[in-house]
Amino acid sequence: MRCKVCGCPELRWLRVGTVAQQFGCTPKVLRRLIKKGEIDGVRIGGEWRIDHQSLDDYVRKDSVRFSLPEARQP
Ligand SMILES: [Zn+2]
Repeated sequence: MRCKVCGCPELRWLRVGTVAQQFGCTPKVLRRLIKKGEIDGVRIGGEWRIDHQSLDDYVRKDSVRFSLPEARQP
């Protein structure tokens, strides 16, 4: 199952790499958003995980940078 908002797997905590791949950006961009407090994240085992709910909220707000999955379909 994939989330209808961000298109990521429906997990509570998403790996930065998974989200980066989904949006075609770099993990660095996402880590910067976590640091700025735009997206909630936690460090688990030396790796950042993104709070799915806060990612969805961010995608809804910033659909320019993070286009919705539907818009990315060919
Ligand atoms: Zn989502």
